[in-house]
Amino acid sequence: MNLDVNETVQNLDFYQRPEDEQTDFLSLTWCNECNEMDLGMTDPKEYCSDSRHWIEGKCKVCSAVVITEIQEDEE
Ligand SMILES: [Zn+2]
Repeated sequence: MNLDVNETVQNLDFYQRPEDEQTDFLSLTWCNECNEMDLGMTDPKEYCSDSRHWIEGKCKVCSAVVITEIQEDEE
């Protein structure tokens, strides 16, 4: 995941998402520290740039930063 330094990163409001999506994003995670999936995250923050869209939170187990990239089918 390389972020172009020239890209503008926008802050989005994670809590504007439908509740079922929030639940999914908060539970379907991958933690690099624990090396395990679906441990869950807390404190979610949503960002997007020109080329990427992602949610950043903290691993529920070890509090490391957890990033979930959002794949979108947008034209
Ligand atoms: Zn962890």
